[in-house]
Amino acid sequence: TVVTRFAPSPTGFLHIGGARTALFNWLYARHCGGKFLLRIEDTDRKRSTQEAVDAIIDGMKWLGLDWDGDAISQYARAARHREVAEQLLGAGMAYKCYATPDELTSMREQAKAEGRPMRYDGRWRDRDPKDAPGGVDPVVRLKAAQDGQTVIRDLIQGDVTVDNAQLDDMVLLRADGTPTYMLAVVVDDHDMEVTHVVRGDDHLTNTFRQLQIYTAMGWDRPIFAHMPLLHGADGAKLSKRHGALGVEAYRDMGFLPEALCNYLLRLGWGHGDDEIISRRQAIEWFDLKDVGRAATRFDMAKLTSLNAHYIRTADDQRLSDLALRTIAAQSAKPAGPKAQERILSGMPGLKERAKTIVELAESALFYAFDRPIEKNEKALKLLEPQSRAALGKLLEILKVLPQWREEDLEQAVKGFAEAEELKLGKIAQPLRAALSGSNVSPGIFEVMRVLGREETLGRIDDAVN
Ligand code: GLU
Repeated sequence: TVVTRFAPSPTGFLHIGGARTALFNWLYARHCGGKFLLRIEDTDRKRSTQEAVDAIIDGMKWLGLDWDGDAISQYARAARHREVAEQLLGAGMAYKCYATPDELTSMREQAKAEGRPMRYDGRWRDRDPKDAPGGVDPVVRLKAAQDGQTVIRDLIQGDVTVDNAQLDDMVLLRADGTPTYMLAVVVDDHDMEVTHVVRGDDHLTNTFRQLQIYTAMGWDRPIFAHMPLLHGADGAKLSKRHGALGVEAYRDMGFLPEALCNYLLRLGWGHGDDEIISRRQAIEWFDLKDVGRAATRFDMAKLTSLNAHYIRTADDQRLSDLALRTIAAQSAKPAGPKAQERILSGMPGLKERAKTIVELAESALFYAFDRPIEKNEKALKLLEPQSRAALGKLLEILKVLPQWREEDLEQAVKGFAEAEELKLGKIAQPLRAALSGSNVSPGIFEVMRVLGREETLGRIDDAVN
């Protein structure tokens, strides 16, 4: 059975590119009826924090990417990593290297002078440990093949080959006995029975080295799929100057998780020309072999228009909960007693217009708070004396309207406009300004219905006087 994993390093937030990697792993596992595992690569004790672990877990949950079993801590497995290094030592596949810091420095300087990457020259590979100098704690290095080639058969990148002569004997255990990242990843993927390693193509060069460990241990290698990294609109690798990088920032900007997932899915993978792909369809259709090799560009405008689609089709109750939560977080005073009822009841009109939850919340403010309401410049301009006089007359009609349904309200307002020989807009726009405090709002009769008789009459009265 297929086993995939997401292996983030908890050094910040859940990166938007990481979220895409997680999504592809998750989808492939679900598509195959396999397992999706989460491993927190927290071996770098200086850079790993609990807040970052929490942010990753929150982000995954928010995106709906559930993992099988418990999240695994890589650091907690250090003893097992060491055990494998000892095993390789015992089998003569690894050796202790006593090169001093000075020796390594001069190797580094030489490489620099020759304009090539640093390569450890293997000076302790075949040397007797009895010759070890005193006072040097050795590192353990892999005795890697020196000739021949290492080939990655990558599902996305195709065959990628390197001459072994270019790889040096990598460190498995540091002088203080701690395992290196390279060793830990391989041991964990093996022990977790990972069948498919799907990750960013920035790891491609690590993979050559990791394959050498698989070979030394005689372990089956997983299938690799290295995904092209996310780039910004200008084609450069996605970075801070392109905007938000953390998934939680997208949540705070008012994106729905299904919109973000749909967008991330379409970056590098497609199903014909389909733009809107539900999670169910994605699980059915997704395959790693269809992931493209070209770098993909993050496009905020596309994400936003997908988000607007998902808002239009989302459940009203859920949207009003989200809008209320946003209002509560952003407003100085608490929402009025009718806020919940009104926003839910007015959601059909509100959600047609909003591209983000933040916009949705903003557009719902006039429902959330009772009169007197704040009015913007444009609303104040609409409420000039003539319009206020007309509203005053309309107010008398509305006061005695027997029923308060949308159709009654429409009939009353239209009838009034006709009787006064006014264009409908001449009365509807001032009415909108009086009721919503703005020149844009959902349909005016819907707004009147949602506000109810008392609040509507009160707001008109406020505007007239
Ligand atoms: N911890 C690595 C990272 O965050 C991922 C390693 C892997 O997927 O093998 O980039």
